[in-house]
Amino acid sequence: MLSRWAHRQGMASDCEISNVFGWNLTEMNTERILSPAAIHEYLETRPAGIRWREWVRRRQYLMTRFHQRSRPLLVIAHFFRDRRAARKIALAIEQDWNETPKSCQDAYDEILFRAPGLIVIQLRQRNVCKCLGHRHPAVREAPFAEPHEAFLGTEIGEIDLAYQDIDKWHPLPLSDSALDAKFLEGSRLEEFHERQFRLKILSIILHEINHLVSPQEDETTVRQRSLTFYRETMAHYAENAISTLSLTIDRSFSRFG
Ligand SMILES: [Zn+2]
Ligand SMILES: [Zn+2]
Repeated sequence: MLSRWAHRQGMASDCEISNVFGWNLTEMNTERILSPAAIHEYLETRPAGIRWREWVRRRQYLMTRFHQRSRPLLVIAHFFRDRRAARKIALAIEQDWNETPKSCQDAYDEILFRAPGLIVIQLRQRNVCKCLGHRHPAVREAPFAEPHEAFLGTEIGEIDLAYQDIDKWHPLPLSDSALDAKFLEGSRLEEFHERQFRLKILSIILHEINHLVSPQEDETTVRQRSLTFYRETMAHYAENAISTLSLTIDRSFSRFG
């Protein structure tokens, strides 16, 4: 159907159409995309007893995706008390990812392409073992541990994140404190720390997805990749922020002038 349409429009093949738009249209027509609405519907129509226990535990699910990627769908499983941290993670995945340089996104393109269609992120404040995150060999989050038609038969993976430990972690102590000093001068330290936290989270999510996709790849290579991602996205953010920082300072001086 598509190729007939293509020929009528004077195009040579499906291939050319994909190149023009940058996507494969044939694949897009047949691939079924996970719907957060269908998953919510499934969660809310489970037996009352199960939902009651979940409500008592105040367990909640926030769904999100990387900008312009239909998969993986990420489900942030969290407790009510951690809802702000859950929203920050969604912000990192949706907005900060979109603002990272293309070379940083490209480093994870293949990994995200091969990732399970649905990934559960178990959000924790701390891990007893002090790790910042793990990949889980099996899905433990109850609603996602059994197959359901809302999942469209997609593979499901699971990771955990210890967000309070991530907040305290200094991946690159020297450059982190050099930037701290710069932003302190510009009095935008809080904004800087917020962004730094979200970029650390993003690099750890990508690190754990990397483990899910290639469990055999050695830790040094996986870590190198995620630290490079963190270093380059931080440098990119700081460069832009510092150039607007000096503008803000200039403007505040001009008010006295
Ligand atoms: Zn651990
Ligand atoms: Zn690792």
